[in-house]
Amino acid sequence: MGHSATGYRTIRINERDNVAIIVEAGGLKSGALLDNGIQLFDDVPQGHKVALEDLTEDAPIIRYGEVIGYAESDIVRGQWIHEGLVRMPDSPPLDQLSFMPRPAPALVPLEGYSFEGYRNPDGTVGTRNILGISTSVQCVAGMGNLVVKRIKEKLLPKYPNVDDVVVLNHSYGCGVAINAPAAIIPIRTLKNLTRNPNLGNEVMVLGLGCEKLEPKQLITPVADSNKHKDILELQDERFQGFAGMVDGIMAMAQQKLERLNQRKRETCPVADLVVGMQCGGSDAFSGVTANPAVGFATDLIVRAGGTVLFSEVTEVRDGVQKLLHRVASEDVGRALIREMKWYDRYLELGGVDRSANTTPGNKAGGLNNIVEKSLGSIIKSGTSTIVDVLAPGERVRRKGLIFAATPASDFICGTLQLASGISLQVFTTGRGTPYGLAMAPVVKVSSRSDLSQRWFDLIDLDAGNIASGQATIEETGWELFRLILDVASGRKQSAAETLGLQNDLVLFNPAPIT
Ligand code: CA
Repeated sequence: MGHSATGYRTIRINERDNVAIIVEAGGLKSGALLDNGIQLFDDVPQGHKVALEDLTEDAPIIRYGEVIGYAESDIVRGQWIHEGLVRMPDSPPLDQLSFMPRPAPALVPLEGYSFEGYRNPDGTVGTRNILGISTSVQCVAGMGNLVVKRIKEKLLPKYPNVDDVVVLNHSYGCGVAINAPAAIIPIRTLKNLTRNPNLGNEVMVLGLGCEKLEPKQLITPVADSNKHKDILELQDERFQGFAGMVDGIMAMAQQKLERLNQRKRETCPVADLVVGMQCGGSDAFSGVTANPAVGFATDLIVRAGGTVLFSEVTEVRDGVQKLLHRVASEDVGRALIREMKWYDRYLELGGVDRSANTTPGNKAGGLNNIVEKSLGSIIKSGTSTIVDVLAPGERVRRKGLIFAATPASDFICGTLQLASGISLQVFTTGRGTPYGLAMAPVVKVSSRSDLSQRWFDLIDLDAGNIASGQATIEETGWELFRLILDVASGRKQSAAETLGLQNDLVLFNPAPIT
């Protein structure tokens, strides 16, 4: 990188774009000469946009070949396009959108790739072998934390094939309007979390005994098992005091660990892999480096027969017209619009709109508004046909590229994707976050090399070399695909796993609290 005879490097994504972004770490000073022959009119921070031509007031500002906003005043060639100069366009009206189903997938099948996974009785395949202790109410969270610590100390060392013990604590279960229509989301999420492939269909449930959410609602019977035996309620009269409860939980955990310990990894086709894609702490490079590389890897997984979930409604909403040309059928198109409408209404009830999404960090990183953020975010979905749309917390029912509707909030998206059945998540970041999940490995991809150098032990893959021209999107996408297979197979751990970084489960509960 740096100053060369041809000027400082800039990135312009689409030939229609009238802006480019500055690559140089630390930004550039007024007067600096760019590689496109333009001399900077202002100081411009790294990742921020510079005008490639004179723009009159109200002229469209174009990035990714799309209008990301309108000029608030006249802008000259070489000027820094900061937030104050950009007026946000309106959202595409959902009732006027047209969609054109794509009859057949355009991608060439990819043969010869597999991973080593844990095959489950229900047909899903896990990437980790974890004892999950689900809970039906927050009242038991303290007990859950305590027994997990004790199980890790006293039992887990005796079962070397089991990777971890995780308690599924949450804030739901009582003090909530359990019959409200929107309560279906947190209840479905908790139920489907117990079916996550990394928990091996061997989840036990810890309940209190008087809560609104009954523990049996969280158990899905599988063939020839007595799943009600997997429930333990603290108010059960057979328990004498605290020690009795702990002994009871430890005994049930031991039985579960014995079964889980017998599981062995076996070679599975990529078709058995379900990967979630998410971004967080995005900057202007996210849509140029990390997200396009992730999109390339998404296409590879789908070509190999696997399943990829992409999510984050508020980051798809402003680019939805692009996605509607990639749906497999009119039903899928209608479902996509249904989820967008539901979320528009949800935000409206809260008295906000999608502009509430962009964070101060996004803006400091060069993203002026949610339109610009969206266009960079949906690139994670690659180019294949969208075969299905899931409402929040619904379980995957098809293979291929799927839109799973979730908020963009990192921990809520992570929780809902786990409920949908991902066994691994890929997370792109520009600003940096130590994000991790307890129930599945998270592979983190940085959009900038200076972040991956500073956070050398927190980032799994650097996509910043794409900005400097030292690597291509294709090369980085292939590298990510191979890394996903290595981590899925347990040959490698992700950085967050090695460091033990795990965010809490955070439920999406749009229903009233009582
Ligand atoms: Ca996010």
